[in-house]
Amino acid sequence: MRATSTGLLLACVLGTACAQDMIPPRVAVAPVDWDAVRGEIAGSEALRPLLAGPDASTLTQLNKAAARAYPAIPQSAVPVLLPIDAAALLRAPAEGDAPKDDSTTGPRLMFLMTGPSGYDAAFAVRRPGSDDTDARRDVGVLISGSLLLYELDEPRVASDEPVKDKELAAQFPGIRRIFLEHHLRFAFERFGVPYVVSTECYDGPSRGRRLSCTAADQLMTGFTRSLQLVGGTPQSAPETATTIDRPTDTSPAFTYNSPGRLLPNTGFRGRDGVVDYTVYAKIRFPLAQAPAYANSQSFLNWGDCDHTGRSSRSGDKGAPYRCRVNGKPLVFDESVAENRSYPWRDNFCEHRSFLVGQCPGGHGHQGQDIRPTTCKLRNEGGDRCLPYQDDVAAVRDGMILRGAGRELTYLFVNVAGEHIRFRYLHMNPKMLDADGVLSGRAVREGELIGKVGTFDRREFGTTYHLHFDTQVMTKYGWVFVNPYMTLVAAYERLLGARGREIKEELEPSVTAAAVAETVEQAQAATGAPLDIGHAHASLSGGDDDHRVGQDKSGGINERLKIASLPKSEIISSRRSERGGDARERSSTRAKHGVRALGHHVSAKSHRARRAASDLHAHNERDKTRHSRLRASR
Ligand SMILES: [Zn+2]
Repeated sequence: MRATSTGLLLACVLGTACAQDMIPPRVAVAPVDWDAVRGEIAGSEALRPLLAGPDASTLTQLNKAAARAYPAIPQSAVPVLLPIDAAALLRAPAEGDAPKDDSTTGPRLMFLMTGPSGYDAAFAVRRPGSDDTDARRDVGVLISGSLLLYELDEPRVASDEPVKDKELAAQFPGIRRIFLEHHLRFAFERFGVPYVVSTECYDGPSRGRRLSCTAADQLMTGFTRSLQLVGGTPQSAPETATTIDRPTDTSPAFTYNSPGRLLPNTGFRGRDGVVDYTVYAKIRFPLAQAPAYANSQSFLNWGDCDHTGRSSRSGDKGAPYRCRVNGKPLVFDESVAENRSYPWRDNFCEHRSFLVGQCPGGHGHQGQDIRPTTCKLRNEGGDRCLPYQDDVAAVRDGMILRGAGRELTYLFVNVAGEHIRFRYLHMNPKMLDADGVLSGRAVREGELIGKVGTFDRREFGTTYHLHFDTQVMTKYGWVFVNPYMTLVAAYERLLGARGREIKEELEPSVTAAAVAETVEQAQAATGAPLDIGHAHASLSGGDDDHRVGQDKSGGINERLKIASLPKSEIISSRRSERGGDARERSSTRAKHGVRALGHHVSAKSHRARRAASDLHAHNERDKTRHSRLRASR
């Protein structure tokens, strides 16, 4: 592997001010052994009789044959491994008579993108041992081979062990079985190139559309065994992509809090966000218009506090309430100015039960939430912004991965020096279907691909915002990274002017003592732990976004776990370290919050509040037990 952008990083380490500047990603390039590729084709007993001419042209012949059925295959900068019969491709006699993928039981190709950084292919695979002919229950499996590897801080991986299947281990020496971000992944190296096969899975038995990790293991073993070399073309090593390009003027209005600085105490179990100044790609801002406001949906006005407890159920428009975690005064009105104000606020790794390897607590929000320009109310008494007022734009030239009826919309980018993908949430699936925003569609940077919505399993299932996240190709496959500075840089270009970073916390935050007091009073009032840590996890990615229902037992376990944590675990260490005057002031402020909280909470209202919070649930809150993979043997 050759690092392409470490020089600049080294300069930053030596400089002092550089630590606060935007930085490019670290990307390594795989040394592809094309001689080994040609040797394998020439040495294959199945392929040799079908090839003509000298060994040097074997790869060309294979590409030509593959292109008859799959025109994109030869454009991959790495050897393409797919569950496709290479001999059948070579046997197909002529143009127009190519073997099409017409099998009813084998993997069905749903998406294939190839290019200078490698390839990604998504397949729909029949469930193991299933005679279920309903294709909607098929499982999505993604395979990626990459010339590029983004080098990140080591993620929090739930498990990483050798693959036990002997045949597979012989076929791909060194193959690993990894569970990360709700996906089971088989990772191996071949011809000097990293490959990752992945699918989404959960603990326990398969239920509905939810696949158990034991079944996923079986399915992935079969899929990976059937991989064959079907093409690819040597290409010159890529240039490092330019990701940072800032305007020179300074905006009089746009300010942003530093990356990693979440709203006080809104990280997972009090942990902070990720201080990451990396601009992962030079993108167009995902909303068509400025102004737009990156901030928290759950912990600002009308937010549900991500089920960590709030002082009051939804009331009349403008009724006050507070989130339990920080006592911040809020109102039930999505349209208030605070929701649409600078400075921006990072909310990557904010409290959620999604597994996110880069988050300090191993869990958190997978991306950044952004409110658009408009908040149009139905009438004067309305407290929710109406959906579909603002346009969403493709951030780069790329290809869409999205199944019909689904909410998750991926945009894959595969260009020289970049292998990255972006995901948009909360647009309306029916509208996306009608507009043909579906797998395989090529889009141009800036092209409008939809309208900002409130869709989270249903309309008004969440606040009016766009969720945007970013994943890069790593040795573990696709991994979530903090998109915040990438978005800051994109927004600056949209404005034509730089923003100003706000490095100090300006608003008083709630201290450790105040939060502890709040918990005690609230618990005394209810006689039970507050509704905190309502566990949920969901499809963090992949191509198969089957949503899962609530798992009550998991939720309870999670609540018990968090309720039994020492108080010091619940609050942010960063804030608790503050002392002196700031603590005194904010403690006094918080005491008022404590009274308000205690006043509203009663044993009777607690149950009602739970029901209400389920009814009014919002942000990407599909609930299930935390997936902590148990090795299936
Ligand atoms: Zn979100």
